[in-house]
Amino acid sequence: MLKMKRTLSVLSLCILFIICMGCTNIKGTQKEEERNTAQEETVAAGNDLEAKGDEEGREIGSGQNGDESGAKEGEREQEAAKAEEVNEEGRAETVADDREGKEGTASSEHGMGSGEAEPETEVSDMEPTMVYTTANVNVRLAPSVDAEVFDLAPRGTVYEKNGEGEGWSRVVIDGEDYYIKSDYLRERKPSGISGGHLIAIDAGHQSRGNSDKEPIGPGASETKAKVTGGTRGTTTGLYEYELTLMVSLKLKAELESRGYEVYMVRESHDVDISNAQRAQMAYDSGAEIFVRIHANGSENSGANGAMTICPTGSNPYIPDLYEDSKRLSSSVLDGLTASTGCRRERVWETDTMSGINWSMIPVTIVEMGYMTNPEEDAKMADEGYQQLIAIGIADGIDGYFE
Ligand SMILES: [Zn+2]
Repeated sequence: MLKMKRTLSVLSLCILFIICMGCTNIKGTQKEEERNTAQEETVAAGNDLEAKGDEEGREIGSGQNGDESGAKEGEREQEAAKAEEVNEEGRAETVADDREGKEGTASSEHGMGSGEAEPETEVSDMEPTMVYTTANVNVRLAPSVDAEVFDLAPRGTVYEKNGEGEGWSRVVIDGEDYYIKSDYLRERKPSGISGGHLIAIDAGHQSRGNSDKEPIGPGASETKAKVTGGTRGTTTGLYEYELTLMVSLKLKAELESRGYEVYMVRESHDVDISNAQRAQMAYDSGAEIFVRIHANGSENSGANGAMTICPTGSNPYIPDLYEDSKRLSSSVLDGLTASTGCRRERVWETDTMSGINWSMIPVTIVEMGYMTNPEEDAKMADEGYQQLIAIGIADGIDGYFE
């Protein structure tokens, strides 16, 4: 009997030892954190900008910056904020590292004094919510940076999240549980809050501009080109009319997934629709609001960030649409900058945009970023970043209707 007891206790000691060794192994290499999650570009700070709201954009063939007046003022104030904004992922990673280090030290009873161990992560069940990735991020088999990587999720990937604990989120993919660092996830608004609103989306520009003139507003003597070819990515070579349609189609899908109805002014590059006609089409569709997707250009390659454009309070053509257009523009810019982490320029109020002046419903122009800025150009050409833009604009539209 005594012998048996002794055998048992030796056995349990062995088991304990094995468990301890196992823990040490699993927890041993905390430092190699998810380096590949920090993929956000660090946009050079400190540029002195001359930004341009580029609705009707650059004249084809003229090589000039089109006929819009400069959106100079108001850009500089955000310079200071930018350095903090741009490397959001990098900062999150640092925080995650720090926290793990501390936890490891505090709970190193299994760690054999390495100071690197952490307790078994507790992930608790929660009401399922939809989330999306804000960076290219590892999806792991267990809530630990040492756990096997199942997949690399591009930013903008949407998951159902059903658990949370100690900085880790549990997500469901094909019925199985996986884990992603919570720092790289953001809640996505549930569908159904839209109430079936109809949204008109205009993917700015077209493959060939039309330099015939049209009045810049109803009854205006001043005229502008009907529609221009837009700007072009100085690094990617992507045309603005290509980028705007890529994002517009993603925005359409995003809005429809939330229960909105969507009217698209164009779904092909090979069209000839003037800015005034686009506004008319949006109105004729029965849409409640008109969202015009554009990208910016500047002679200063340092210029970067997003802006939205709406009429002024004294717009001679659509004075009644000022309040709602301003609110829409603010909400969309908030959503877009929150989702992408890009620099927030401002809501630019101007009465020089034909497609605004001819609108009969609340309207905003979204200048997603600068195709003349190498980093922003490359980012905007990225499908994952485009998805973040679409989600952000949709969040802003949700906010407008809330
Ligand atoms: Zn444009």
